[in-house]
Amino acid sequence: MQNVTNKNLLTIKNLQVQYSSEGNIVHAVNGISLEMRKGKTLGLVGETGAGKTSTAKAIMRILPEVSAKIVDGEIAFAGQELLSLTERQMRKIRGQKISMIFQDPMTALNPIARVGDQISEVIKLHNDISKLEAKERAMQMLEKVGISRDRYHEYPHQFSGGMKQRVVIAIALACGPELLIADEPTTALDVTIQAQVLEMINSLKDSFATSMLLITHDLGVVGKVCDDVAIMYAGQIIERGSKEVIFDNPVHPYTKGLFEAVPRIEDDLDRLHPITGMPPDPTNLPQGCYFSPRCKYAIDECKTGKPELEEIAPGHFCRCILASRGAL
Ligand code: SF4
Repeated sequence: MQNVTNKNLLTIKNLQVQYSSEGNIVHAVNGISLEMRKGKTLGLVGETGAGKTSTAKAIMRILPEVSAKIVDGEIAFAGQELLSLTERQMRKIRGQKISMIFQDPMTALNPIARVGDQISEVIKLHNDISKLEAKERAMQMLEKVGISRDRYHEYPHQFSGGMKQRVVIAIALACGPELLIADEPTTALDVTIQAQVLEMINSLKDSFATSMLLITHDLGVVGKVCDDVAIMYAGQIIERGSKEVIFDNPVHPYTKGLFEAVPRIEDDLDRLHPITGMPPDPTNLPQGCYFSPRCKYAIDECKTGKPELEEIAPGHFCRCILASRGAL
């Protein structure tokens, strides 16, 4: 992952997101900084609760207004600072320049509207074209995601889970966005069709020359489609780099643990090494390194010192006191 700003579509600096819940402050995103290269796919990887979806919602500016707050940070998209835009300005960006695919297609589809109309509505909203032209483009989008144009007038309940997600993908890509955020796009689907849908998202993203932020907990998915990888833990990026760097030479103890916990067909199950312990309570984060209660390499300094994300090799960043000293 390069730090060349003119090649970056998205640059996030020190993003911090908090929720208030029953009198507690939930520290969901704790100072994320990252860059996304134009035309590339960045995999944002981590366990549930690591802050991946909150980061995506902050980019889209769709965090719940009542409970969530962006406390600090900058999000520059194509040279424009998103956090200073008005809601009206953001509406022009959402759907047209940045689109999002959610895990569950039913949260994105209106159950009482025809699927074709849901696609053409988005096209009409962002383009000065007639209803008829928008309908024709929607039919073309249906075909691009492998659904016959004859099904334009059907309702979501007439589609299987995989087909619904294809419709969601058609809506997300209908206006040729520069950035597609895909939040666990295949997790809710049957295992048998996950690979198909992922393959389709990936090839459409290439044909539309769209960059993709792929949120996932699945390293297998990252291995198949990502160019760059950022590993999240407790609302922070703890390691990032190109896919080759992260897969061939993971350094952070948490990243190493993730790879050791993935079952491989040639290994017997006794040799799996799950990461012991649980992620920290986001209302009461540890004082020093957030991973220190689970880290087998932790030294006293890790319990008080706050490790920064440092470049330990060209393009390879790691948030670990020992890794920064070359001691891992
Ligand atoms: Fe482990 Fe210390 Fe590195 Fe944190 S800073 S990951 S506790 S070695």
